[in-house]
Amino acid sequence: MIDSLEKGRTQDVAAPVVLVTGASRGIGRAIAVHAARDGWSVAVNYRENREAAEETLRLCGSERRSPTQKFTAHAADVGSDNEREALIQSVAEAHDRIDALVNNAGAAPTVRRDILETTPSSFRRVMETNLLGPFFLMQAAARFWLSGTMQPRGPSGFVIVNISSISAEAASLNRGEYCVSKAGLSMASTLWALRVAEFGISVCELRPGIIATDMTVGVRERYDALIAEGVVPAKRWGTPDDVAAVCLAILGGRLPFTTGAVIHVDGGLHIRRL
Ligand code: NAP
Repeated sequence: MIDSLEKGRTQDVAAPVVLVTGASRGIGRAIAVHAARDGWSVAVNYRENREAAEETLRLCGSERRSPTQKFTAHAADVGSDNEREALIQSVAEAHDRIDALVNNAGAAPTVRRDILETTPSSFRRVMETNLLGPFFLMQAAARFWLSGTMQPRGPSGFVIVNISSISAEAASLNRGEYCVSKAGLSMASTLWALRVAEFGISVCELRPGIIATDMTVGVRERYDALIAEGVVPAKRWGTPDDVAAVCLAILGGRLPFTTGAVIHVDGGLHIRRL
């Protein structure tokens, strides 16, 4: 896994390289496009939606700032050990290096069920995608960066950003496996931030609230009503661009000396009220 990334160490490219998982749609696509706009090369991971991934590549291309930027698509289920390894190999072959990892790919339960009815297969699928995949991608990136002499091209050293969720702290009884996976991802961010801080690698958690994407299409009317009632203090849906802007602030070095941080992007949804 690591050997494949090491292959490219001697080669030089001008643009830093970011791998964004789940970048074919939604928040991941917005992060990819903002990264392209800010001069990054982008490895766009997706699970199965090739057409959407190609649209992300097209959008990245239209934001290109330098001829050294490269935009590539890589199909892989991040929850599968074999496919995750193949993903790393394929990114290494395409870009020869990696400067930042954005663990964005995520899945909600296919069917929302009360925790009295949660099935092991749904629990396993959600945990593999939302927790196991990101954990071991962080391990692969950290091992690679720690075992070599490659200097980061990004403005703030090597960076990992994990996209968790308000569900890391807000309990939803009808999708417990999702909440558990995001709470686990939050601790994984903390662990990796602690483990690699002394090497100049930062790890931050972005915690989005209610964001308008395919993931929330099925609950749009219900959330429209909740937002109108004031559940979100800012009284609006979040957008993928809201999350991408904060992510690029981190990738762009505008939060120096920050690691292990949890950054809410939720219009105040997390604020406890009385
Ligand atoms: P989305 O619109 O449903 O898009 C999901 C993306 O993840 C797609 O690109 C999908 O690829 C990819 N994906 C799903 N399972 C994957 C897997 N096993 N391996 C690789 N890629 C996979 O989701 P989103 O709303 O943008 O959510 C992005 C992240 O933000 C997720 O981690 C989600 O939990 C988190 N989040 C979302 C909200 C929200 O309100 N939307 C709030 C808080 C946190 P394909 O296109 O190939 O299916």
